[in-house]
Amino acid sequence: CPWGAPSTTSISCSLADVMSEQLAKELQLEEENAAFPEVVAAAEGPFITGENIDTSSDLMLAQMLQMEFDREYDAQLRREEKKINGDSKVSISFENYRKVHPYDSDSSEDEVDWQDTRHDPYRADKPTTTPRRGFIGKGKDITTKHDEVVCGRKNTARMENFAPEFQVGDGIGMDLKLSNQVFNALKQHAYSEERRSARLHEKKEHSTAEKAVDPKTRLLLYKMVNSGMLETITGCISTGKESVVFHAYGGNTTEDKVIPPECAIKVFKTTLNEFKNRDKYIKDDYRFKDRFSKLNPRKIIRMWAEKEMHNLTSIYFLIHRMQNAGIPCPQVVILKKHVLVMSFIGQDQVPAPKLKDVTLSSEDMKKAYYQILNMMQQLYRECNLVHADLSEYNMLWHDGKVWLIDVSQSVEPTHPHGLEFLFRDCRNVSEKGGVAEALNERELFNAVSGLNITADNEVDFQAEIEALEKMNEDHVQNHGKKLSTFSNTKKQFPAKKQDQ
Ligand code: ADP
Ligand code: MG
Repeated sequence: CPWGAPSTTSISCSLADVMSEQLAKELQLEEENAAFPEVVAAAEGPFITGENIDTSSDLMLAQMLQMEFDREYDAQLRREEKKINGDSKVSISFENYRKVHPYDSDSSEDEVDWQDTRHDPYRADKPTTTPRRGFIGKGKDITTKHDEVVCGRKNTARMENFAPEFQVGDGIGMDLKLSNQVFNALKQHAYSEERRSARLHEKKEHSTAEKAVDPKTRLLLYKMVNSGMLETITGCISTGKESVVFHAYGGNTTEDKVIPPECAIKVFKTTLNEFKNRDKYIKDDYRFKDRFSKLNPRKIIRMWAEKEMHNLTSIYFLIHRMQNAGIPCPQVVILKKHVLVMSFIGQDQVPAPKLKDVTLSSEDMKKAYYQILNMMQQLYRECNLVHADLSEYNMLWHDGKVWLIDVSQSVEPTHPHGLEFLFRDCRNVSEKGGVAEALNERELFNAVSGLNITADNEVDFQAEIEALEKMNEDHVQNHGKKLSTFSNTKKQFPAKKQDQ
């Protein structure tokens, strides 16, 4: 036996003990019977056997029979109700014919969900209305509409018109009479509260809409999960002015798509949707008619939208270009409208730290610096791109190397401001270089672009950059196409990067 050997010792007791115990039991039973006769009867079963219960009360018997009858009647009604209604959309109810007996245990609370509002104790009594002439009664008993009691009651009743969430207290059963002064103060407060809550509500809705994603984007994300491309979307990594980034676990890899185990989803907040809808407002707005008579506003908007769209669709190719050049950057999984799914840089939902947040040893720092220098050159020469937002915020430190992210704003060097952007990138990098042999921004610019701008101060340097850009623009004006490269340089600037 798993419980051990059963003990066989029998407890011996005296006859007197047994008898007194029996007596105690009998006495208790007698007492119970006297106290709860019905309970005992009910416990016997649904039928009244007439053996154990007190049959002396005719009223009690009659009530019990009536109860039984009502219960059967109600059940019959319910059956008929069901038969008549079938599965029709419109149903009729025999509720009013039911004999809901006060003792009926079947009618549980959730079944009686209606309320007879005719006798609602929570409804303030309607004050007596004064007739048109403004008073009731005659002579000494005259009551005018200005009577304190009448006015007070009327004011109390008018509190019902306040917003439902405005707490007016519980005056049930009391003959509350609110003076005009109190009522007016309450009314003022109720209205200002109502307005305030509307404002708060508006703000809240607005902020959630901004933080989370709009319904269309949500649908796009659901579809990605439903199709099995993504396993789950775990949460938000970052919310920026122009984008929201989520983390997700990758789903099933198919023949034509390799899904990384962890993904980053970047949702761009495009102005495209907003403008599309705004178009129709502006179109009908008379104020815009004259002001934009020359520049059709719809054209401006379309230009914006097109620019946005172009930037987005080109990311896909930008990242591919970067990958082909061997620059560490997230790999693109898919680009659907304004949602970019890419591989996640980091592990177990924790994104790799930004270069800004990581503390590197001097050796790693040197490694990172030369890697960045090399990446900038590759980007410019092999990919024909300028990052245009290169900073310690857009570089992650992962696996002992620097990864480039956030390339959506990249431009080609021959962009009207391409060289200026490159110079800005160079300034960001050289300022935070952190290594002794770091090039200054001008040296870095020349090293990356292969241009030989000799100006030894920033103002002149920038002037030369702008002159180059202008030359390119003129070329576009005259020949209808951009220069393929800026090739006015006499000699290549020797970059200090031999030791990579
Ligand atoms: P923004 O336009 O808001 O600057 P980013 O592309 O720079 O957008 O992304 C914002 C943040 O999201 C980054 O700083 C980084 O922490 C995180 N993030 C973006 N892409 C990835 C990715 N592929 N892997 C891991 N984290 C990422
Ligand atoms: Mg960024």
